[in-house]
Amino acid sequence: MIGVVGGGIAGLAAAYRLQQRGREVQVFEASEDLGGLAGVYETAGDPIEKFYHHLSKSEETIVDLIEELGLGDRLEWLYMSNAFYVDGVVHPMDKPWEIAAYPHLSLYDKYRLTMLTLEIDVRGWLPSFDTYESLQDFEDVPIKEFLLDHTTRSVYENFWEPLLDAKFGSRKEDVSAAWLLGRVKFRGERDLLRGEILGYLQGGFAPLIGALVDAVGRENITTGARVSDLDTSEERVRSLTVETADGTTTRDVDAAVVAAMPNVLEDLTGYPCEIDFQGTVCSVWSMDESLTDTYWLNLADEAPFGVFIEHTNFVPPKRYGDEHLYYTASYVQDPSEELWRMDDSEVEELWMDGIADLFPQFESESVNWVETARNPRTAPVYERGYLDMVVPYDLSDAVAEGVYYAGMASRAQYPERSLNGAIEAGFAAADRITDDAVTASTTDGHEAVTE
Ligand SMILES: Cc1cc2nc3c(=O)[nH]c(=O)nc-3n(C[C@H](O)[C@H](O)[C@H](O)COP(=O)(O)OP(=O)(O)OC[C@H]3O[C@@H](n4cnc5c(N)ncnc54)[C@H](O)[C@@H]3O)c2cc1C
Repeated sequence: MIGVVGGGIAGLAAAYRLQQRGREVQVFEASEDLGGLAGVYETAGDPIEKFYHHLSKSEETIVDLIEELGLGDRLEWLYMSNAFYVDGVVHPMDKPWEIAAYPHLSLYDKYRLTMLTLEIDVRGWLPSFDTYESLQDFEDVPIKEFLLDHTTRSVYENFWEPLLDAKFGSRKEDVSAAWLLGRVKFRGERDLLRGEILGYLQGGFAPLIGALVDAVGRENITTGARVSDLDTSEERVRSLTVETADGTTTRDVDAAVVAAMPNVLEDLTGYPCEIDFQGTVCSVWSMDESLTDTYWLNLADEAPFGVFIEHTNFVPPKRYGDEHLYYTASYVQDPSEELWRMDDSEVEELWMDGIADLFPQFESESVNWVETARNPRTAPVYERGYLDMVVPYDLSDAVAEGVYYAGMASRAQYPERSLNGAIEAGFAAADRITDDAVTASTTDGHEAVTE
Protein backbone atom coordinates (compact mmCIF):
# COMPACT_ATOMS: atom_id res chain seq x y z
CA MET A 1 0.00 0.00 0.00
CA ILE A 2 1.13 3.55 -0.71
CA GLY A 3 0.38 6.05 2.04
CA VAL A 4 -0.45 9.63 1.07
CA VAL A 5 0.02 12.26 3.76
CA GLY A 6 -2.50 15.09 3.20
CA GLY A 7 -5.94 15.21 1.59
CA GLY A 8 -5.52 18.54 -0.19
CA ILE A 9 -5.75 18.57 -3.96
CA ALA A 10 -2.10 17.45 -4.37
CA GLY A 11 -2.58 14.37 -2.17
CA LEU A 12 -5.88 13.48 -3.84
CA ALA A 13 -4.33 13.90 -7.30
CA ALA A 14 -1.39 11.66 -6.33
CA ALA A 15 -3.78 9.00 -4.98
CA TYR A 16 -5.95 9.21 -8.11
CA ARG A 17 -2.98 8.76 -10.47
CA LEU A 18 -1.54 5.89 -8.39
CA GLN A 19 -4.85 4.06 -8.43
CA GLN A 20 -5.13 4.53 -12.18
CA ARG A 21 -1.78 2.75 -12.39
CA GLY A 22 -3.14 -0.14 -10.34
CA ARG A 23 -1.61 0.74 -6.98
CA GLU A 24 -3.36 0.41 -3.66
CA VAL A 25 -3.49 3.76 -1.81
CA GLN A 26 -4.62 5.18 1.50
CA VAL A 27 -4.89 8.95 2.03
CA PHE A 28 -4.54 10.34 5.55
CA GLU A 29 -5.87 13.84 6.20
CA ALA A 30 -5.25 15.52 9.55
CA SER A 31 -8.34 17.73 9.53
CA GLU A 32 -11.98 16.65 9.31
CA ASP A 33 -12.33 18.16 5.82
CA LEU A 34 -10.75 17.30 2.49
CA GLY A 35 -9.47 19.91 0.02
CA GLY A 36 -6.96 21.76 2.25
CA LEU A 37 -6.54 25.37 1.06
CA ALA A 38 -9.33 24.83 -1.48
CA GLY A 39 -11.89 24.31 1.32
CA VAL A 40 -15.24 26.11 1.11
CA TYR A 41 -18.06 27.82 3.04
CA GLU A 42 -21.72 27.22 2.35
CA THR A 43 -23.78 30.17 1.05
CA ALA A 44 -27.47 30.58 0.15
CA GLY A 45 -26.47 29.01 -3.21
CA ASP A 46 -23.20 27.44 -4.38
CA PRO A 47 -20.33 26.98 -1.92
CA ILE A 48 -17.54 29.60 -2.01
CA GLU A 49 -13.82 29.00 -1.45
CA LYS A 50 -12.45 30.21 1.88
CA PHE A 51 -9.51 31.67 -0.07
CA TYR A 52 -10.20 33.28 -3.48
CA HIS A 53 -9.56 30.94 -6.44
CA HIS A 54 -9.69 31.10 -10.22
CA LEU A 55 -7.84 29.43 -13.10
CA SER A 56 -5.56 30.90 -15.74
CA LYS A 57 -5.81 29.90 -19.39
CA SER A 58 -2.21 28.65 -19.31
CA GLU A 59 -3.11 25.89 -16.81
CA GLU A 60 -3.82 22.76 -18.80
CA THR A 61 -3.38 19.87 -16.37
CA ILE A 62 -6.33 20.89 -14.20
CA VAL A 63 -8.51 21.43 -17.27
CA ASP A 64 -7.66 17.92 -18.52
CA LEU A 65 -8.44 16.49 -15.07
CA ILE A 66 -11.75 18.39 -14.90
CA GLU A 67 -12.69 16.87 -18.28
CA GLU A 68 -11.50 13.41 -17.26
CA LEU A 69 -13.63 13.49 -14.10
CA GLY A 70 -16.73 14.42 -16.10
CA LEU A 71 -16.94 18.04 -14.92
CA GLY A 72 -16.05 19.66 -18.24
CA ASP A 73 -19.48 21.20 -18.68
CA ARG A 74 -19.06 23.07 -15.38
CA LEU A 75 -15.89 24.86 -16.48
CA GLU A 76 -16.48 28.47 -17.48
CA TRP A 77 -14.04 31.03 -18.88
CA LEU A 78 -15.15 34.46 -17.75
CA TYR A 79 -13.84 37.98 -18.26
CA MET A 80 -12.29 39.34 -15.09
CA SER A 81 -12.21 43.03 -14.33
CA ASN A 82 -9.27 44.59 -12.64
CA ALA A 83 -8.81 48.10 -11.24
CA PHE A 84 -6.50 50.28 -9.15
CA TYR A 85 -7.84 52.20 -6.16
CA VAL A 86 -5.89 55.43 -5.69
CA ASP A 87 -6.87 58.49 -3.60
CA GLY A 88 -10.50 57.45 -3.28
CA VAL A 89 -10.97 56.69 -6.98
CA VAL A 90 -11.40 53.27 -8.63
CA HIS A 91 -9.53 53.24 -11.96
CA PRO A 92 -10.56 50.34 -14.24
CA MET A 93 -7.49 48.87 -15.98
CA ASP A 94 -8.77 46.27 -18.47
CA LYS A 95 -9.42 47.96 -21.78
CA PRO A 96 -6.84 49.94 -23.75
CA TRP A 97 -8.75 53.21 -23.31
CA GLU A 98 -9.03 52.62 -19.55
CA ILE A 99 -5.29 52.07 -19.28
CA ALA A 100 -4.72 55.16 -21.48
CA ALA A 101 -6.90 57.20 -19.12
CA TYR A 102 -5.11 56.08 -15.93
CA PRO A 103 -3.71 59.35 -14.57
CA HIS A 104 -0.97 58.00 -12.30
CA LEU A 105 1.35 56.86 -15.13
CA SER A 106 2.63 58.98 -18.04
CA LEU A 107 2.29 57.84 -21.65
CA TYR A 108 5.97 56.86 -21.62
CA ASP A 109 5.49 54.86 -18.40
CA LYS A 110 2.60 52.98 -19.99
CA TYR A 111 4.72 52.24 -23.05
CA ARG A 112 7.52 50.81 -20.91
CA LEU A 113 5.08 48.79 -18.79
CA THR A 114 3.30 47.40 -21.86
CA MET A 115 6.60 46.43 -23.52
CA LEU A 116 7.71 44.51 -20.42
CA THR A 117 4.39 42.66 -20.20
CA LEU A 118 4.79 41.78 -23.91
CA GLU A 119 8.34 40.56 -23.07
CA ILE A 120 10.00 43.09 -25.38
CA ASP A 121 13.17 44.71 -24.07
CA VAL A 122 13.26 48.34 -25.28
CA ARG A 123 16.28 49.55 -23.34
CA GLY A 124 18.60 49.69 -26.37
CA TRP A 125 18.32 51.33 -29.79
CA LEU A 126 16.63 48.26 -31.21
CA PRO A 127 13.98 46.24 -29.38
CA SER A 128 15.12 42.79 -28.25
CA PHE A 129 12.68 39.88 -28.24
CA ASP A 130 14.81 37.26 -26.49
CA THR A 131 16.13 39.10 -23.40
CA TYR A 132 13.54 37.49 -21.13
CA GLU A 133 13.58 33.99 -22.61
CA SER A 134 15.66 32.28 -19.92
CA LEU A 135 14.22 32.80 -16.46
CA GLN A 136 17.38 31.36 -14.97
CA ASP A 137 19.28 34.48 -16.09
CA PHE A 138 17.10 36.51 -13.69
CA GLU A 139 17.03 34.11 -10.74
CA ASP A 140 19.56 36.18 -8.76
CA VAL A 141 18.40 39.63 -9.91
CA PRO A 142 16.50 41.62 -7.25
CA ILE A 143 13.03 42.51 -8.51
CA LYS A 144 13.24 46.22 -7.67
CA GLU A 145 16.60 46.66 -9.40
CA PHE A 146 15.19 44.81 -12.43
CA LEU A 147 12.00 46.89 -12.63
CA LEU A 148 13.85 50.19 -12.26
CA ASP A 149 16.16 49.12 -15.09
CA HIS A 150 13.53 47.58 -17.39
CA THR A 151 10.68 50.07 -16.84
CA THR A 152 10.75 53.42 -14.98
CA ARG A 153 10.76 54.56 -11.36
CA SER A 154 7.18 55.76 -11.73
CA VAL A 155 6.06 52.37 -13.11
CA TYR A 156 7.74 50.73 -10.14
CA GLU A 157 6.25 53.05 -7.54
CA ASN A 158 2.77 53.49 -8.99
CA PHE A 159 2.14 50.07 -10.49
CA TRP A 160 4.40 47.25 -9.30
CA GLU A 161 5.12 48.35 -5.75
CA PRO A 162 1.46 48.26 -4.59
CA LEU A 163 1.12 44.79 -6.12
CA LEU A 164 4.33 43.58 -4.48
CA ASP A 165 3.25 45.08 -1.14
CA ALA A 166 0.00 43.12 -1.35
CA LYS A 167 1.71 39.91 -2.39
CA PHE A 168 4.91 39.86 -0.33
CA GLY A 169 4.66 42.71 2.22
CA SER A 170 7.94 43.29 4.03
CA ARG A 171 9.63 40.55 1.93
CA LYS A 172 8.97 42.26 -1.42
CA GLU A 173 12.58 43.24 -2.05
CA ASP A 174 13.79 39.65 -1.54
CA VAL A 175 11.80 38.45 -4.56
CA SER A 176 13.63 37.62 -7.78
CA ALA A 177 13.05 39.16 -11.21
CA ALA A 178 12.66 35.55 -12.46
CA TRP A 179 9.47 35.25 -10.42
CA LEU A 180 8.02 38.35 -12.06
CA LEU A 181 8.94 37.18 -15.56
CA GLY A 182 7.55 33.74 -14.76
CA ARG A 183 4.27 35.38 -13.76
CA VAL A 184 4.22 37.39 -16.99
CA LYS A 185 4.65 34.13 -18.96
CA PHE A 186 2.14 32.29 -16.73
CA ARG A 187 -0.60 34.85 -17.32
CA GLY A 188 -3.52 33.72 -19.38
CA GLU A 189 -5.37 34.83 -22.42
CA ARG A 190 -6.46 38.46 -22.91
CA ASP A 191 -9.04 39.88 -25.21
CA LEU A 192 -7.77 43.26 -26.31
CA LEU A 193 -11.18 44.85 -25.92
CA ARG A 194 -12.57 42.95 -22.92
CA GLY A 195 -9.60 42.14 -20.70
CA GLU A 196 -8.25 38.93 -19.15
CA ILE A 197 -10.11 35.62 -19.19
CA LEU A 198 -10.07 33.44 -16.07
CA GLY A 199 -11.58 30.06 -15.33
CA TYR A 200 -14.01 28.96 -12.64
CA LEU A 201 -16.12 25.88 -12.06
CA GLN A 202 -19.87 26.22 -11.69
CA GLY A 203 -20.36 25.33 -8.03
CA GLY A 204 -16.76 26.35 -7.24
CA PHE A 205 -13.85 23.95 -6.84
CA ALA A 206 -15.69 21.80 -4.27
CA PRO A 207 -17.14 19.56 -7.05
CA LEU A 208 -13.59 18.90 -8.28
CA ILE A 209 -12.47 17.83 -4.81
CA GLY A 210 -15.68 15.77 -4.52
CA ALA A 211 -15.08 14.05 -7.87
CA LEU A 212 -11.49 13.22 -6.89
CA VAL A 213 -12.71 11.79 -3.57
CA ASP A 214 -15.30 9.67 -5.40
CA ALA A 215 -12.71 8.47 -7.89
CA VAL A 216 -10.19 7.54 -5.18
CA GLY A 217 -12.98 5.99 -3.05
CA ARG A 218 -14.00 7.32 0.37
CA GLU A 219 -13.00 3.95 1.85
CA ASN A 220 -9.39 4.74 0.86
CA ILE A 221 -9.37 8.11 2.63
CA THR A 222 -9.29 8.73 6.38
CA THR A 223 -10.00 12.19 7.76
CA GLY A 224 -9.13 13.28 11.28
CA ALA A 225 -5.96 11.22 10.75
CA ARG A 226 -2.69 13.01 11.37
CA VAL A 227 0.45 11.21 10.25
CA SER A 228 2.94 11.73 13.06
CA ASP A 229 5.86 9.57 11.98
CA LEU A 230 7.43 7.80 8.99
CA ASP A 231 9.60 4.83 9.80
CA THR A 232 12.55 5.05 7.43
CA SER A 233 14.89 2.64 9.20
CA GLU A 234 17.44 0.81 7.00
CA GLU A 235 17.13 3.56 4.36
CA ARG A 236 13.70 2.52 3.18
CA VAL A 237 10.23 3.68 4.22
CA ARG A 238 8.52 0.87 6.11
CA SER A 239 5.45 2.28 7.84
CA LEU A 240 3.67 5.41 8.90
CA THR A 241 2.13 6.25 12.25
CA VAL A 242 -1.38 7.68 12.18
CA GLU A 243 -3.11 9.44 15.05
CA THR A 244 -6.91 9.51 15.09
CA ALA A 245 -9.53 10.11 17.79
CA ASP A 246 -9.57 6.31 18.27
CA GLY A 247 -5.85 6.11 19.00
CA THR A 248 -2.52 5.60 17.28
CA THR A 249 -1.96 2.96 14.60
CA THR A 250 0.98 1.93 12.47
CA ARG A 251 0.37 1.17 8.79
CA ASP A 252 2.91 -0.68 6.67
CA VAL A 253 3.63 1.06 3.37
CA ASP A 254 5.62 0.33 0.21
CA ALA A 255 6.01 4.06 -0.38
CA ALA A 256 4.80 7.34 1.11
CA VAL A 257 3.89 10.62 -0.62
CA VAL A 258 4.05 13.67 1.63
CA ALA A 259 1.55 16.09 0.06
CA ALA A 260 1.68 18.79 2.72
CA MET A 261 3.77 21.84 3.57
CA PRO A 262 7.53 21.28 3.91
CA ASN A 263 7.47 21.73 7.69
CA VAL A 264 5.38 18.52 7.81
CA LEU A 265 7.99 16.77 5.66
CA GLU A 266 10.71 18.00 8.01
CA ASP A 267 8.81 16.79 11.09
CA LEU A 268 8.28 13.37 9.52
CA THR A 269 11.68 12.82 7.92
CA GLY A 270 14.10 15.53 9.08
CA TYR A 271 14.42 16.82 5.48
CA PRO A 272 15.08 20.57 5.86
CA CYS A 273 13.53 22.99 3.38
CA GLU A 274 14.81 26.55 3.41
CA ILE A 275 11.85 28.14 1.62
CA ASP A 276 10.09 30.75 3.74
CA PHE A 277 6.30 30.69 3.69
CA GLN A 278 3.78 33.46 4.25
CA GLY A 279 0.49 33.06 6.07
CA THR A 280 -2.87 34.46 4.97
CA VAL A 281 -5.81 35.96 6.81
CA CYS A 282 -8.83 36.06 4.52
CA SER A 283 -12.45 37.06 5.16
CA VAL A 284 -15.46 36.33 2.97
CA TRP A 285 -18.23 38.93 3.27
CA SER A 286 -21.80 38.43 2.15
CA MET A 287 -23.62 41.72 1.52
CA ASP A 288 -26.92 42.88 0.07
CA GLU A 289 -25.24 45.38 -2.24
CA SER A 290 -22.52 45.71 -4.84
CA LEU A 291 -19.74 48.18 -4.02
CA THR A 292 -17.71 48.23 -7.25
CA ASP A 293 -17.80 47.17 -10.92
CA THR A 294 -14.56 45.28 -10.45
CA TYR A 295 -13.53 41.74 -9.57
CA TRP A 296 -9.96 42.42 -8.47
CA LEU A 297 -9.20 45.76 -6.82
CA ASN A 298 -5.52 46.57 -6.33
CA LEU A 299 -5.06 48.99 -3.47
CA ALA A 300 -2.51 51.73 -4.07
CA ASP A 301 -3.90 53.51 -1.03
CA GLU A 302 -4.04 53.13 2.74
CA ALA A 303 -6.13 50.08 3.65
CA PRO A 304 -5.92 47.52 6.48
CA PHE A 305 -6.06 44.63 3.94
CA GLY A 306 -3.89 43.93 0.91
CA VAL A 307 -6.56 43.10 -1.61
CA PHE A 308 -10.29 43.66 -2.07
CA ILE A 309 -12.11 41.22 -4.35
CA GLU A 310 -15.74 41.47 -5.35
CA HIS A 311 -16.20 37.82 -6.29
CA THR A 312 -19.73 38.36 -7.57
CA ASN A 313 -18.39 40.71 -10.25
CA PHE A 314 -16.73 37.55 -11.65
CA VAL A 315 -19.34 34.88 -10.87
CA PRO A 316 -22.89 36.34 -10.78
CA PRO A 317 -24.68 36.77 -7.42
CA LYS A 318 -27.60 34.61 -8.59
CA ARG A 319 -25.33 31.58 -8.05
CA TYR A 320 -25.21 32.51 -4.36
CA GLY A 321 -28.90 33.17 -3.70
CA ASP A 322 -28.39 36.81 -4.79
CA GLU A 323 -25.78 37.44 -2.09
CA HIS A 324 -22.89 39.74 -3.11
CA LEU A 325 -19.67 38.06 -2.01
CA TYR A 326 -16.36 39.80 -1.31
CA TYR A 327 -12.92 38.81 -0.11
CA THR A 328 -10.63 40.97 1.96
CA ALA A 329 -7.23 39.41 2.58
CA SER A 330 -3.68 40.05 3.73
CA TYR A 331 -0.53 37.99 3.63
CA VAL A 332 1.40 37.78 6.86
CA GLN A 333 5.17 37.44 6.82
CA ASP A 334 5.71 36.98 10.53
CA PRO A 335 3.47 35.50 13.24
CA SER A 336 4.39 38.42 15.51
CA GLU A 337 2.46 40.79 13.18
CA GLU A 338 -0.49 42.47 14.84
CA LEU A 339 -2.99 41.16 12.29
CA TRP A 340 -1.97 37.56 12.97
CA ARG A 341 -2.32 38.05 16.72
CA MET A 342 -5.88 39.43 16.40
CA ASP A 343 -8.80 37.05 16.77
CA ASP A 344 -11.32 36.73 13.94
CA SER A 345 -13.80 39.25 15.33
CA GLU A 346 -11.04 41.86 15.80
CA VAL A 347 -9.88 41.30 12.21
CA GLU A 348 -13.46 41.63 10.94
CA GLU A 349 -14.03 44.85 12.89
CA LEU A 350 -10.79 46.37 11.58
CA TRP A 351 -11.56 45.33 8.02
CA MET A 352 -15.19 46.51 8.19
CA ASP A 353 -13.86 49.98 9.09
CA GLY A 354 -11.42 49.67 6.18
CA ILE A 355 -14.25 48.88 3.74
CA ALA A 356 -16.19 51.89 5.07
CA ASP A 357 -13.15 54.15 4.54
CA LEU A 358 -12.71 52.98 0.94
CA PHE A 359 -16.39 53.08 -0.01
CA PRO A 360 -18.42 55.88 1.63
CA GLN A 361 -21.66 54.29 0.33
CA PHE A 362 -20.97 51.09 2.34
CA GLU A 363 -23.44 50.43 5.15
CA SER A 364 -22.51 47.91 7.82
CA GLU A 365 -26.19 46.78 8.01
CA SER A 366 -25.87 45.38 4.49
CA VAL A 367 -23.48 42.65 5.77
CA ASN A 368 -25.35 39.32 6.01
CA TRP A 369 -22.44 37.30 7.31
CA VAL A 370 -18.66 37.24 7.42
CA GLU A 371 -16.32 34.27 7.88
CA THR A 372 -12.58 34.50 8.41
CA ALA A 373 -10.02 31.82 7.59
CA ARG A 374 -6.34 31.84 8.36
CA ASN A 375 -3.46 29.52 7.67
CA PRO A 376 0.18 30.08 8.66
CA ARG A 377 1.58 28.61 5.42
CA THR A 378 -0.24 29.53 2.23
CA ALA A 379 2.35 30.88 -0.20
CA PRO A 380 6.11 30.68 -0.63
CA VAL A 381 8.24 33.80 -0.70
CA TYR A 382 9.65 33.44 -4.22
CA GLU A 383 12.97 34.92 -3.24
CA ARG A 384 16.25 34.92 -5.15
CA GLY A 385 17.73 31.43 -5.49
CA TYR A 386 14.29 29.87 -4.98
CA LEU A 387 14.71 27.06 -7.48
CA ASP A 388 17.76 25.75 -5.60
CA MET A 389 15.53 25.29 -2.56
CA VAL A 390 12.60 23.37 -4.08
CA VAL A 391 12.02 19.91 -2.62
CA PRO A 392 12.55 17.06 -5.13
CA TYR A 393 9.62 14.74 -5.86
CA ASP A 394 11.76 11.67 -5.25
CA LEU A 395 13.50 11.77 -1.88
CA SER A 396 15.08 8.32 -2.06
CA ASP A 397 18.61 9.79 -2.03
CA ALA A 398 17.94 12.61 0.41
CA VAL A 399 15.75 10.73 2.93
CA ALA A 400 15.07 7.04 2.25
CA GLU A 401 13.89 4.85 -0.59
CA GLY A 402 10.13 5.08 -1.09
CA VAL A 403 9.70 8.65 0.22
CA TYR A 404 8.19 11.14 -2.23
CA TYR A 405 7.08 14.77 -1.95
CA ALA A 406 4.16 16.57 -3.66
CA GLY A 407 3.56 19.61 -1.45
CA MET A 408 3.74 23.33 -2.14
CA ALA A 409 7.55 23.45 -2.02
CA SER A 410 7.79 21.35 -5.18
CA ARG A 411 8.87 22.56 -8.62
CA ALA A 412 5.36 22.46 -10.12
CA GLN A 413 4.32 25.24 -7.72
CA TYR A 414 6.63 27.80 -9.35
CA PRO A 415 6.31 30.64 -10.40
CA GLU A 416 2.91 30.66 -8.70
CA ARG A 417 1.30 28.17 -6.39
CA SER A 418 -2.02 26.99 -7.76
CA LEU A 419 -4.47 24.12 -7.90
CA ASN A 420 -2.95 23.22 -11.26
CA GLY A 421 0.54 23.16 -9.74
CA ALA A 422 -0.68 21.00 -6.85
CA ILE A 423 -2.21 18.48 -9.27
CA GLU A 424 1.00 18.44 -11.34
CA ALA A 425 3.02 17.85 -8.16
CA GLY A 426 0.73 14.98 -7.13
CA PHE A 427 0.98 13.44 -10.60
CA ALA A 428 4.76 13.92 -10.71
CA ALA A 429 5.26 12.09 -7.40
CA ALA A 430 2.89 9.29 -8.51
CA ASP A 431 4.67 8.97 -11.87
CA ARG A 432 8.01 8.61 -10.13
CA ILE A 433 6.65 5.84 -7.89
CA THR A 434 5.23 3.85 -10.78
CA ASP A 435 8.24 4.57 -13.05
CA ASP A 436 10.60 3.44 -10.27
CA ALA A 437 8.55 0.24 -9.86
CA VAL A 438 8.74 -0.41 -13.61
CA THR A 439 12.49 0.21 -13.60
CA ALA A 440 12.95 -2.09 -10.60
CA SER A 441 10.89 -4.90 -12.13
CA THR A 442 12.67 -4.52 -15.48
CA THR A 443 16.00 -4.70 -13.69
CA ASP A 444 14.84 -7.74 -11.69
CA GLY A 445 13.67 -9.44 -14.87
CA HIS A 446 16.95 -8.71 -16.61
CA GLU A 447 18.93 -10.12 -13.72
CA ALA A 448 16.72 -13.22 -13.68
CA VAL A 449 17.46 -13.81 -17.36
CA THR A 450 21.18 -13.39 -16.99
CA GLU A 451 21.43 -15.60 -13.90
C1 LIG B 1 -5.13 33.19 -0.53
C2 LIG B 1 -4.97 32.09 -1.54
C3 LIG B 1 -5.32 32.31 -2.86
C4 LIG B 1 -5.15 31.32 -3.81
N1 LIG B 1 -5.56 31.56 -5.08
C5 LIG B 1 -5.49 30.58 -5.99
C6 LIG B 1 -6.03 30.76 -7.28
O1 LIG B 1 -6.59 31.81 -7.61
N2 LIG B 1 -5.92 29.74 -8.18
C7 LIG B 1 -5.33 28.56 -7.85
O2 LIG B 1 -5.29 27.67 -8.70
N3 LIG B 1 -4.79 28.37 -6.64
C8 LIG B 1 -4.86 29.34 -5.70
N4 LIG B 1 -4.35 29.14 -4.45
C9 LIG B 1 -3.43 28.00 -4.23
C10 LIG B 1 -4.08 26.66 -4.00
O3 LIG B 1 -5.10 26.76 -3.03
C11 LIG B 1 -2.99 25.71 -3.51
O4 LIG B 1 -1.89 25.70 -4.39
C12 LIG B 1 -3.47 24.27 -3.37
O5 LIG B 1 -4.74 24.19 -2.75
C13 LIG B 1 -2.43 23.50 -2.56
O6 LIG B 1 -2.87 22.18 -2.40
P1 LIG B 1 -1.97 21.14 -1.58
O7 LIG B 1 -2.71 19.88 -1.59
O8 LIG B 1 -0.57 21.18 -2.07
O9 LIG B 1 -1.86 21.75 -0.10
P2 LIG B 1 -2.98 21.94 1.01
O10 LIG B 1 -4.24 22.39 0.40
O11 LIG B 1 -2.35 22.77 2.07
O12 LIG B 1 -3.22 20.47 1.56
C14 LIG B 1 -2.34 19.84 2.45
C15 LIG B 1 -3.19 18.98 3.38
O13 LIG B 1 -2.32 18.23 4.22
C16 LIG B 1 -2.93 18.12 5.48
N5 LIG B 1 -1.90 17.76 6.46
C17 LIG B 1 -0.92 18.56 6.96
N6 LIG B 1 -0.15 17.86 7.82
C18 LIG B 1 -0.65 16.59 7.84
C19 LIG B 1 -0.27 15.41 8.57
N7 LIG B 1 0.79 15.37 9.39
N8 LIG B 1 -1.01 14.30 8.37
C20 LIG B 1 -2.08 14.30 7.53
N9 LIG B 1 -2.48 15.41 6.85
C21 LIG B 1 -1.76 16.53 7.00
C22 LIG B 1 -3.54 19.50 5.70
O14 LIG B 1 -4.56 19.46 6.68
C23 LIG B 1 -4.07 19.82 4.31
O15 LIG B 1 -5.42 19.43 4.15
C24 LIG B 1 -4.57 30.08 -3.46
C25 LIG B 1 -4.23 29.84 -2.12
C26 LIG B 1 -4.44 30.83 -1.17
C27 LIG B 1 -4.10 30.55 0.25
